[in-house]
Amino acid sequence: MKATEWLVPRAEGLYCAPGDFFIDPLVPVPRAVITHGHADHARPDHGAVLATEETLAIMRLRLGEDRAGATQQPLRYGEELTVGGVRLRLEPAGHVLGSAQAVMERAGTRAVVSGDYKRAPDPTCRAFAPVPCDLFVTEATFALPVFRHPDPLREIDKLLRDVKLFPDRTHVVGCYALGKCQRLIALLRQAGYDGPVWLHGALRPLCGLYERFGVALGDLRPATEAAKGELCGGIVLAPPGAIADRWARRLADPVVCLASGWMQVRQRAKSRGVELPLIISDHADWDALLTTCREVGAEDIWVTHGREDALIHALAGFGIRGRALRLIGYEEDETA
Ligand SMILES: [Zn+2]
Ligand SMILES: [Zn+2]
Repeated sequence: MKATEWLVPRAEGLYCAPGDFFIDPLVPVPRAVITHGHADHARPDHGAVLATEETLAIMRLRLGEDRAGATQQPLRYGEELTVGGVRLRLEPAGHVLGSAQAVMERAGTRAVVSGDYKRAPDPTCRAFAPVPCDLFVTEATFALPVFRHPDPLREIDKLLRDVKLFPDRTHVVGCYALGKCQRLIALLRQAGYDGPVWLHGALRPLCGLYERFGVALGDLRPATEAAKGELCGGIVLAPPGAIADRWARRLADPVVCLASGWMQVRQRAKSRGVELPLIISDHADWDALLTTCREVGAEDIWVTHGREDALIHALAGFGIRGRALRLIGYEEDETA
């Protein structure tokens, strides 16, 4: 039996028939394997939830104890479990803390659902591990040849140079609360910035969670508690929705920045009033998608959320059968 016969796209999401569970289901189901904590993958009110310890903690924090799964079962990276008729394990996806690929094996065939992933180094989570397989399910958020993410440290350098250039202004950087925020802070530290990083209140709980899992983020302070003038020349992180509203306008002559893979599209930066776009993405770019799809050696590749057509066309050139899953409900969002 081929992997494409026992892993089945259903309206609820991808269903592993012999294990009787869904992966990142879109609606509440009795048994779910969750790849990572972003809202379009980790939805509330499932019965039994299996994920990494980090993802389970993120789900409890974001969804509340009572909606993060009736029962929760943690699985360490690389640890193997037999569920019904499949062997299941989780391997790092390099996307955010706790992010995992679901690796399923049955009768000598292997399917891998990668969730969201990236190949660029990220000091806040384990690096993506390519797993050879027969069926690979990939995301396609940035699946167009124009998307080539630069070295993130180059973007951080751009930010730090601007901060030096305008010592009387406050740089307010829009970043998604889970993953991007903590990666930005870690990259700033890597680049030698040891000053305080000021945080919008919405970003604090997940930073605390990362630190509890051993990701050091240095001197973090609540932006609302800054004394007058303290934010001049400083760096403030805020959710993307807050950088252009009243919250940001209180800051000293703010320089509005936004950290996202979408910042490669000049028009997007412009329309959001972003003065300093930072191209920092937690998703694979075009090259990384192609490299990964070839590296895993799968003869079938299913493509979710994004520009499926371009990727499927490119895969055909390598003799790989591609298929667009068109699962509704995975949003193109700020997490990119
Ligand atoms: Zn994600
Ligand atoms: Zn996603």
